[in-house]
Amino acid sequence: MRIGVFVCHCGTNIAATVDSEGIAARAGELKGVVHTEDIIYTCSEPGQHAIQQAIREKNLDRVVVAACSPHMHEVTFRRTVEGAGLNPYLFEMANIREHCSWIHPDKPEGSEKAYDLIKMAVAKVRDLEPLYANEVEVNKDVLVIGGGVAGIQTALDLAEAGLKVTVVEKETTIGGTMAQLDKTFPTIDCSACILTPRMVDCSQHENIEIMAYSEIDRVQGYVGNFTVDIRKKASMVDWDKCIGCELCQQKCPAKAPDAFNEGIATTKAIYIPFPQAVPKKAAIQVDYCRWFQEGKCRVCERVCPADAIDYEQQDEFVQKEFGAIVVATGQDVFPWEDYYHEYGSGRIPDVISGLQYERMLNASGPTHGHVLRPSTMGQKDVEPEEPKTVVFIQCIGSRDESVGRPYCSNVCCMYTAKQAILTKDHVGMETEVYVFYIDIRAFGKGYEEFVKRAQTEFAVKYVRGRVSKLYEERGKVKVRGMDTLLGKQVEIDADLVVLASGITAADGASELAQRLNISYDQYGFFKESHPKLRPLETNTAGIFLAGACQAPKDIPTTVAQASGTAAKVLGLLAKDKLKTSPMIARVDQNRCVSCWKCIEVCPFSAPEKEELRDGSYKSHIIETVCQGCGICVATCPVNCIDLKGFGTQSVLDQIEEVLLT
Ligand code: FAD
Ligand code: SF4
Ligand code: SF4
Repeated sequence: MRIGVFVCHCGTNIAATVDSEGIAARAGELKGVVHTEDIIYTCSEPGQHAIQQAIREKNLDRVVVAACSPHMHEVTFRRTVEGAGLNPYLFEMANIREHCSWIHPDKPEGSEKAYDLIKMAVAKVRDLEPLYANEVEVNKDVLVIGGGVAGIQTALDLAEAGLKVTVVEKETTIGGTMAQLDKTFPTIDCSACILTPRMVDCSQHENIEIMAYSEIDRVQGYVGNFTVDIRKKASMVDWDKCIGCELCQQKCPAKAPDAFNEGIATTKAIYIPFPQAVPKKAAIQVDYCRWFQEGKCRVCERVCPADAIDYEQQDEFVQKEFGAIVVATGQDVFPWEDYYHEYGSGRIPDVISGLQYERMLNASGPTHGHVLRPSTMGQKDVEPEEPKTVVFIQCIGSRDESVGRPYCSNVCCMYTAKQAILTKDHVGMETEVYVFYIDIRAFGKGYEEFVKRAQTEFAVKYVRGRVSKLYEERGKVKVRGMDTLLGKQVEIDADLVVLASGITAADGASELAQRLNISYDQYGFFKESHPKLRPLETNTAGIFLAGACQAPKDIPTTVAQASGTAAKVLGLLAKDKLKTSPMIARVDQNRCVSCWKCIEVCPFSAPEKEELRDGSYKSHIIETVCQGCGICVATCPVNCIDLKGFGTQSVLDQIEEVLLT
């Protein structure tokens, strides 16, 4: 056995607190080690060249690199050793940066730990055997989950490149939050005017199938070969027949909450969310339908000219195969009513959220673009009133530890500036408009100038400070706060208060993550594989991210990221076959007791019952299906399953090496 050990300085990242040179020299004493070297930057071209040269000149048959995290560079170094003719799986990495130099201020202590990690890596590499990758056929179809602007952009890019795309959207229409917006910052262009054509393109593209009112039920398989069960929710309307004429909605006698209009209006039990919906199909909210609740009505059935109403409809399950999955499930708005009790918990009618205000500003919204005080709306003998004083409060559910949301929601400073400008535009320049803020985060192209325009051209008064209380008094909303720049209390009698509610992960995001086997952070946003180097991939191969489901984002960033994701998917699916990792499970059939526990636990259905010559059945792993997760290894009651490249013996050898030598 001829092992080479290469210890990295990573400039001073490692060498400042780990004696790279000293531990490289000491590693020469370890059993099997015939060459050691310390290198300033091992991952650099000269560094990789030095490893290859040593493999050739010293005839090395195993290599250990002690450097940063394998997450960062394991693939790099496997390629390096392979380039010098060595099997890439006869290589092991010791993480002496994240596990040593970055956490130990004391150099001798850090160096000693680094040496222990190198000893363990050498012990492991001694046990390794050459492994060879399998190849699997790749399915070229793509699943996009979520039909907001991110999902739409990714789907269109992929479809244009010739791939078949299925968009699964949980609502009855695609469009997401952008479909609810009035104008968009910083250009103040009409949201629907830019989004609607893209929604229509999506529905008319020969390579795109939209499955609206559907959700992901189960995901099985692996990169290149996912099998997905999709639940098509019962809409009680046969969508093949529905022509979107809205007659049913007009005639339905039963009122229901209007989610698309964020509750500032009502809709009917049978509804189409908005005129430009794609697909434009009706659905019944059974909780509000008189037929379902009281057993009488059936008005919609009588008026429907297409004979589309189907009260007996049931959820339908469809199974489809895909090579890659893009998650684009976006965001929700922070439920401020549950947290900000000092702002009235939603009981003051003239205190509304930013998204409710978007619906009010929207010409096709419930007030046809008229800004009105909600307390004066929909009441007999009361003329709806325009507000004369409007107060915006930023950072509601953002940058606020007390409500468990310390992060910045990215878009609220900007959408508040936009809404402040639009208030002056809709109600008149004489309207008093105030914005309470902590800091203004106007980071994007043209954003700083946009906020300046709000402050100067539109005379919006920005007050730096927090609002401590909102309450009703004599028909007004009293806004009590602190101007921290002037150091004094402020009190404003407002007619309307708009809260810039922050962004949270989409409802059900963590459950979806569990179904997809991808990671998510403590707030429910999906985690990218690496924030800098792999920001569009998840840790599960073949599953990608687009848009606000990863973190709050504005539309330009969302669209740019969605196109980037499409490019990543194309890169993956350009290949006809994919190499699978050879680090998979193997069963010692002589010891297998046929308990089938591995079959029960494997999330990929990799173990199968294999009939042997004597007619008995033993567990056998289907190599192309196994993803090497190791669950069966830990579950097998007689320890007869081993993971290639992670053998039980090699783990024991490492422990022994660090404890006993
Ligand atoms: P979303 O728009 O949230 O779309 C996600 C889609 O996925 C939705 O259709 C949802 O129904 C669907 N979905 C969710 N979960 C599932 C599931 N499990 N299965 C299937 N489908 C699912 N940005 C700007 O650049 N300019 C602006 O002026 C602007 N104004 C804004 C004003 C407000 C009040 C808010 C809240 C945001 C604003 N934004 C603005 C930000 C903008 O809304 C986002 O950038 C954009 O919506 C992100 O798009 P998305 O597709 O990632 O997410
Ligand atoms: Fe509306 Fe009646 Fe049809 Fe129910 S049955 S959706 S209440 S019209
Ligand atoms: Fe299944 Fe075991 Fe392979 Fe994991 S390691 S995929 S549990 S057979």
